[in-house]
Amino acid sequence: MQREWPRPLVLPVHNLGAGGNTPPYWLPPPRGLGWPYALFNAFFLRPGHSASMLHPGIRAWVDSGGFLYLEAPQRRLAGLHAAGRRLASRPALIPGREEWLGLAEEVLRRQEGFGAEAAFTLDAPLPPGAQLDPGCCPGAVAERLRLTAEAAALAYQLRARRSMRLLVVLHHNGPETLRRLLDTLSRRLRERAGMSLDEVDGYALGGLVPHSGKLWLLARRLQETRRLIGWDKWLHILGVASPHNIPLLYAAGADSMDSKTYIIAAAKRLYYQPPGAKPARIDLRNADGAKPSCTCPACSTAETLSELRSDTKRLALHNLHATLEAAHQAAKAHEENRLHQLLRQLARSNPRLAKALREIRETRPPSRR
Ligand SMILES: [Zn+2]
Repeated sequence: MQREWPRPLVLPVHNLGAGGNTPPYWLPPPRGLGWPYALFNAFFLRPGHSASMLHPGIRAWVDSGGFLYLEAPQRRLAGLHAAGRRLASRPALIPGREEWLGLAEEVLRRQEGFGAEAAFTLDAPLPPGAQLDPGCCPGAVAERLRLTAEAAALAYQLRARRSMRLLVVLHHNGPETLRRLLDTLSRRLRERAGMSLDEVDGYALGGLVPHSGKLWLLARRLQETRRLIGWDKWLHILGVASPHNIPLLYAAGADSMDSKTYIIAAAKRLYYQPPGAKPARIDLRNADGAKPSCTCPACSTAETLSELRSDTKRLALHNLHATLEAAHQAAKAHEENRLHQLLRQLARSNPRLAKALREIRETRPPSRR
């Protein structure tokens, strides 16, 4: 029994297990926004953690933490406990095949034990330089594509809970690498799980966090992905969403997207303005006694903007409200068949967005209502 998801779906990043202070946005107003979706990271979760311990109605998605496992070896002990000691004793960043598959199983069990509604397969991101230089590091690229495909096929073979949707994380730097990854995945899925590529629950596009400011690159990678997987499969984009790029990501091919900028901006005392407003963010360190014009639960209890300056959780709640509003605006525009019109309008004052729009050739099919 798989539940429907709205499009575009925003998953606010929740830092359970990692410390920090995520506001309880799942609670009804005035303490929260009543938004039930959340993205957790398996790297930080502990065996005793479960989604329902936060709130019974939370609809949890759980990332694999592939990047953290690979790039932060000193944190493996925290992330993997006993198994981590074995990995941490190896100086190489890329683990051997057996260790990698052991890790993929450990991550899957943690995602299932947590009660995830959707989970991302363990992935090995390409070296960041490979995104802009297709000729970069062919050995490392080939190795990471192989590890990513192996871990995804193993997760499909071993999954115990069918109601948890498994989104295969894809990494590529153009149609050629994506084709290679999908070919390997197709073979491994058949060998391990006796299934075809058509039967996967959906995909997630990763590896773009270091390039999140390059809107043209995000649009290009999404479009290349859609061209090969078609529009029927669910597609998530990992780690890059903010209120200012959500309509673009949706138009270019992402059905869902996660965002942590609402917390980061709040820590920097930045207040998101509605999409298209100038400036896009207000620095509250210079805020005056003006009353917020926003009517979200966080702002409607504040007399002045400067009151939100020292209340990070309330400010994060407002920033998340602005993020969800951007998704709502994109959904509505698409339903009314004017998503590209909205984007052209937003691009008039945003040259980076205008450049990114030129990447869009494959257009999102009309919404089925
Ligand atoms: Zn607000």
